[in-house]
Amino acid sequence: MRDADFFRRWMVATAASVEREADRLTELDSPIGDADHGSNLLRGFTAVRTALDAEPPDTPGAVLQLAGRTLISTVGGASGPLYGTLLRRTGKELGDGSEVGDEELREALRAGVDAVARLGGAAPGDKTMLDAWTPAIDALATSYRAAADAAEEGAEATIPLVARKGRASYLGERSIGHQDPGATSSALLLEALADTADADGAGAGGAS
Ligand code: ADP
Ligand code: MG
Repeated sequence: MRDADFFRRWMVATAASVEREADRLTELDSPIGDADHGSNLLRGFTAVRTALDAEPPDTPGAVLQLAGRTLISTVGGASGPLYGTLLRRTGKELGDGSEVGDEELREALRAGVDAVARLGGAAPGDKTMLDAWTPAIDALATSYRAAADAAEEGAEATIPLVARKGRASYLGERSIGHQDPGATSSALLLEALADTADADGAGAGGAS
């Protein structure tokens, strides 16, 4: 079972990863966007870390809902409301239990990703963050690491796609040949989740 601290550590690991990769995310957002994805997420996840430190929520659902609200209020770009919705919806699905199981988390994440698809009107293949999240949710049935790998592959598979949503869609065919920044950052979130789960597994046996 995963407690609030697991989710807090996931968000902190994501913030650290976004900090390391911010320049690359912004570079990816240059040819097919407005070169702000790294700075958007850096601002957002830094604020998430601050909010979680200030008043650590005591349930998994509350951690993700606070993170989602914080992203919505601090990130101006399209990715803020989209990631915010993902985490808020996932958090709501988790309810107010003090611990959640991995299958429960998988179903909650699926609901979160569905909410992103509804909000943004995108489908897999449109060269958005959904191209990382959709295969990752399926692979979660295997393991967190499999999900992270699937997200990474999904992000790389956006390179030959034509963007149909978001700023990159303004470029039409000229969006071909570039990896989607939001799919790339989504792979970072899933990698942080896998790392957090691995760290748990290395602790006292049976804790998870
Ligand atoms: P903005 O496009 O407003 O500058 P960001 O640069 O922070 O926002 O984020 C861009 C990313 O947001 C894209 O790479 C894409 O993955 C994601 N995105 C944009 N529009 C949508 C949408 N309608 N549905 C899903 N994801 C989207
Ligand atoms: Mg942008």
